Amino acid sequence: MKFKTLAEYFDTIESASSRLKMTELLAELFDKSNKDEIDKIIYLCQGSIAPRFKGIDLGVGEKFVIKAIALATGHEPKEINSKFKKSGDLGDIAQELLKNKKQSSLSFSELSVIKVFENFIKLANVGGEGSQDSKIKLIAELLSSASPVEAKYIARFPTGKLRLGVGDPTILDALSVYEKGSKEMREELERAFNLTSDLGLIAKKLFENPKQLSKITPIPFSPIRPSLAERMSSAEDIFKKLGKCVIDSKYDGLRMQIHKKENEIEIYSRNQEVLTKMFPDIVEEIKKLKEKELIFEGEALAYDEKNEKYFSFQETIRRKRKYDIKQIKEELPIQVFLFDLLFLNGKNYTQEPYIKRRKTLEKIIPKKNKMIKPSNITTVESPKEIHEFYEKCIGKGLEGIIAKDLNAPYIAGARKFSWIKLKKSYGKVADTFDVVIVGYYLGKGHRAQFNFGGLLTAVYNKEKDKYETIARIGSGFSEEEMRTFEKELSKIKLKEKPKELDSEIKPDFWVSLKYVITVSADEISLSPMHTCAKDSNPNSKGFALRFPRMLHIREDKDPKDATTTKEIKEMYRLQKN
Ligand code: ATP
Repeated sequence: MKFKTLAEYFDTIESASSRLKMTELLAELFDKSNKDEIDKIIYLCQGSIAPRFKGIDLGVGEKFVIKAIALATGHEPKEINSKFKKSGDLGDIAQELLKNKKQSSLSFSELSVIKVFENFIKLANVGGEGSQDSKIKLIAELLSSASPVEAKYIARFPTGKLRLGVGDPTILDALSVYEKGSKEMREELERAFNLTSDLGLIAKKLFENPKQLSKITPIPFSPIRPSLAERMSSAEDIFKKLGKCVIDSKYDGLRMQIHKKENEIEIYSRNQEVLTKMFPDIVEEIKKLKEKELIFEGEALAYDEKNEKYFSFQETIRRKRKYDIKQIKEELPIQVFLFDLLFLNGKNYTQEPYIKRRKTLEKIIPKKNKMIKPSNITTVESPKEIHEFYEKCIGKGLEGIIAKDLNAPYIAGARKFSWIKLKKSYGKVADTFDVVIVGYYLGKGHRAQFNFGGLLTAVYNKEKDKYETIARIGSGFSEEEMRTFEKELSKIKLKEKPKELDSEIKPDFWVSLKYVITVSADEISLSPMHTCAKDSNPNSKGFALRFPRMLHIREDKDPKDATTTKEIKEMYRLQKN
């Protein structure tokens, strides 16, 4: 496929306002693709060149793209920079400058999707001395051969700001529409995606032979999308729902999915980021296990040996930062509480009942291992026993409990009642909220010095593949946090409202959807201003958080992992009860 065709589709998709239209356009685009390029087209639609778990980062700053545009168009970097300060979009600038370019370049050749993709791969791989110049040349080479609309997307891509507004659910719908003319195949595609986290791979399989899809099983080093827990507010409700069940301790740590094949180990976060380098001690421990192939899950917590206490998630995650790993290994010794087994020596365990997965897991882990151990569980036959175990967990400083259905399979990528969490109460709602930052405000009074006065935040409406506002957050920030927020958010400011957001409120600045924060609130209330769960009826009200307070950044969640509109509705129902 010519890259121009793809760029033209990107352009129409970008201006399409409804999800239905976007799906149709994507399906049409897929119809024009062949099986050797479909995976690449999918990754490009996702604004990437590989699934996240490959850990590939183009790592190109705006400065380089500005230099590349200058090289390709003959304009001064200074001029481009000042245009960028005004418009905030390098894509539009590249498009405009190429439209006005009088002479076509001598090196002009028509770009193919494969050529552009290959240059982006090279871009990701160049390193060492002179790598900055090589990166600029690679982008400039593409821009020199590009038409204005191609230039728009080539310039946007390396900095990670494609702005199509297309999420994974829309791509899944479009693949189904491409194949069947309807959403009939969506469930089957989603199942395969949940087991591999790789939409490019799924699309390739679909193009090669749709029958392959139903045969997909977990693949070591392709993380399985995590199973999630529903919430309930009492031991009685949980027992009513599950009857006899296992109650697991809920650790407030860092979720890990560990993959092993022979001596190769990889550790993935909840959102498929590669964490392996940060945990050499865990890797060594896993290497000792005699099973050849393994995928299992656990929660990692830093342990304070002196005081015999677990550190919080915030402390544990310090390991993620680029400190000296050797030093931090001693400062923050880690323990992993394993709670599920998903794959063992070529066998897919996700379809096995929980109790079988758990028993097999216990057989694999040596009992005396100090660093990796099965989580602490108990089997219960009454609400009273659930309550007792819950109290014990809270007494030990844990977050709560997770009840597990004895017979349920591992439900990848979804929140179902096979796991039910019961957490400590924060205010009237027995949970915190993970919300996406969509904008911020300038400070007034004392906060004027920080140029920061609070955040506008949103939750994710998975059904609509859109974000909806739920809270303006003005409290819970330390001075240090205000400075950091201003510094980091000003880097991702947008001139306009992000396309994937529904909002009736306008903050001082919009930002790209990147950061998820955990907040507490007194309760969920109704609001005419916020769009969470609001329908098109002019008198309809949305949900809002009452007295929201910032707790911390949730580094292991992407915007699409934020609390969903559906969860808010359910939490509102629980609160009313
Ligand atoms: P939360 O903010 O409550 O951790 P979450 O949105 O990250 O929620 P949930 O599905 O709501 O995810 O809760 C499940 C999370 O609890 C898992 O992602 C995991 O990180 C953590 N967890 C801690 N202990 C356990 C356990 N024993 N079994 C399963 N998950 C556990």
